[in-house]
Amino acid sequence: MTTDNPYRALPSVDRLLADERLRPLGEGERPVVTELARQALETARTAVAAGRPAPTEDQLVESVLGLAEVVLRPSLRPVINATGVIIHTNLGRAPLSEDAIAAMVAVSGGYSNLEFDLEAGERGSRFVHLEPLLRQLTGADAAMAVNNNASALLLALSSLAPDREVIVSRGQAVEIGGGFRIPDVMRQSGARLVEVGTTNRTYLRDYEAALTPDTAAIMRVHASNFRIVGFTETPAINDLARLAHEHDLLLLDDLGSGCILDTTQFGLAPEPTVQESMAAGVDLAMFSGDKLLGGPQAGIIIGRRELVERLRRHPLARAVRMDKASIAALTATLLHYLRGEALEKLPVWRMIAAPLAEVQRWARRWARGIGEAAKVVDGRSMIGGGSLPEESLPTKLVAIAGDGGYVTDLARRLRQGDPPVVARIERDALLLDPRTVPSREAATVIRAVKAALSR
Ligand SMILES: *Cc1c(COP(=O)(O)O)cnc(C)c1O
Repeated sequence: MTTDNPYRALPSVDRLLADERLRPLGEGERPVVTELARQALETARTAVAAGRPAPTEDQLVESVLGLAEVVLRPSLRPVINATGVIIHTNLGRAPLSEDAIAAMVAVSGGYSNLEFDLEAGERGSRFVHLEPLLRQLTGADAAMAVNNNASALLLALSSLAPDREVIVSRGQAVEIGGGFRIPDVMRQSGARLVEVGTTNRTYLRDYEAALTPDTAAIMRVHASNFRIVGFTETPAINDLARLAHEHDLLLLDDLGSGCILDTTQFGLAPEPTVQESMAAGVDLAMFSGDKLLGGPQAGIIIGRRELVERLRRHPLARAVRMDKASIAALTATLLHYLRGEALEKLPVWRMIAAPLAEVQRWARRWARGIGEAAKVVDGRSMIGGGSLPEESLPTKLVAIAGDGGYVTDLARRLRQGDPPVVARIERDALLLDPRTVPSREAATVIRAVKAALSR
């Protein structure tokens, strides 16, 4: 009897691999699946040794399939963003333009002149590729780009203010998201944060009163993801520049989103632009590549040449450098601005600029496709991504009503589909915003929703 020796109840690796359900995994994946079968059996033996019952053959096959799913299926996958949050940090922020994607592909499959001077035939610098474009676009004297804006901030503070004081308004010593806090980055860089003013009101005289022989800079930080309204006061950037320069100090500007276009043309609040920051006399400004700029993950640094050169020479510059594919994508993105075609070519701006009547047309088409469970209702699309805090655009949503449990369940089925569709959940409705879904994916969304509803 096999029950005498529970180990004997366990099948061999070969027997497990012969199971029908493991067939579809394919020839190329055989070695991995064999290894996973060994691991599943090893786990089973450990369980038996601990006095637990041996799993059935069926359970073993299931656990191999589960392991294969985790190991062999790419974890990072495209999803459809039907949330209406345009710059959704958890969903990868800005989708790239076609030109940006093509540029990434062009430099990724082979070699490139990333750090090679084709004229001289010798070693070059990766900084040459973006600088002329960034200067042209922003009016800055010098420019460089690093891995992301958090690195830009860390590099700037580490290079320019180690063991010195940097004055920041109390209302700007913020947490940006994912636990990224300005005071922590400052500490890490070796700069000493001096907070001035109060949460809601900071005057120029507060900055002035905090100046000491140890002060290296004044820094402005965009309060990306919240807004203080009502009884508030913040000095204009021009006044901060004047104060800093009167005392031979630097004015640093963490712009967050790096907006280049005028947001008020879409009924949104004015977002501080990169050009304004340069015109006001900021010494060094930094911003993300993948927020309102609409490009790849990057941290762009612009300002006075002597400062940018110091950042390039700092040892951290190597640690936070940008890769070739991102440089290519950022180049293509910036070119859209220079050519005056950013609104048409950059998905982020196309979504912001989409007229309500057009979104309504898409929403009606979706609702018709889905069937009578779907209704078109008024709603708001969020800008998101730490830009234009609390700002939204009027939109038309496709709503599927139901009680809390039903709606949560429907949303989960949509997320588990292929491709996953991420919707917005409200207490008594599942909401889909066509604004953030490219028209080529509309049919996929309709099919996914119908499938989820029929299950
Ligand atoms: C988003 C943001 C950052 C961080 O930028 P990443 O590109 O995500 O590293 C830093 N500062 C501000 C003000 C931001 O809004």
